[in-house]
Amino acid sequence: MSLKEYKRIVIKVGTSTLTHPGGGLNLARIERLVRASCDLKNSGREVVIVTSGAVGVGVDKLGLPSKPTALPDKQAAAAVGQCTLMHIYDKFFSEYGHKVAQLLLTRDVMEESGTRENVANTFARLFEYGVVPIVNENDTVSVKELEHVTSFGDNDTLSAVVSAVCGADLLIILSDIEGLYDADPRSNPDAKLIRTVTEITPEMRAAAGGAGTAGGTGGMHTKLIAADIAMGAGIDMYIASGEDPSIITSILGGSATGTFFGKL
Ligand code: GLU
Repeated sequence: MSLKEYKRIVIKVGTSTLTHPGGGLNLARIERLVRASCDLKNSGREVVIVTSGAVGVGVDKLGLPSKPTALPDKQAAAAVGQCTLMHIYDKFFSEYGHKVAQLLLTRDVMEESGTRENVANTFARLFEYGVVPIVNENDTVSVKELEHVTSFGDNDTLSAVVSAVCGADLLIILSDIEGLYDADPRSNPDAKLIRTVTEITPEMRAAAGGAGTAGGTGGMHTKLIAADIAMGAGIDMYIASGEDPSIITSILGGSATGTFFGKL
């Protein structure tokens, strides 16, 4: 399937893509993600990265035995891990001659029209400067995300809201799963990958279930919420495996395996 000529692309990467199971940074994957993103920049497109991983990387850096349950511990880990993540992004993007910026957002800021406009203006100026904005939720103040209650709740939702605010035409979600299946592939070996979704049906929502993986907070359920937001805003979305982030190039070339959400 050949995709459209996209100009502004948001790429969302989850903790399970960015880190090894023990929590350490997966430098090889981050390198491939950055290289593919720089290639898009070099071809004249604009790129935004929505990154998770702050808590996981912070837990690893602080040498904590496991992901903490107490909120201040998670927030402290996120604050530490976010620095490390930005350091690595800055280093890799610089190696390919590109500049990055850090944007830490909360849902209230994105819902209130005045502050949302400030965020949109910042994105617009960063694009003019040729900078790659790197976005995460501001975990220090956005407690609801970490408690999995409301707020953005997860970076899948954040990435869709960001796509709408920054005027993207494509959202790519790189995940530990290849796309949307007609049943849960972890428990059903006959589950089939759905290649194209022009409308999200109740059956798809039922098959998506809940729950994410150990390191992250998302899951197919939150990806469908993201797809709802993106499609509602006229933005196409693509879910693919983050196993090899070079897949971004194949997605734009129309040769990747994954699930496309949008109008054909
Ligand atoms: N903001 C969280 C972090 O950086 C991740 C939330 C998510 O993965 O959905 O660790």
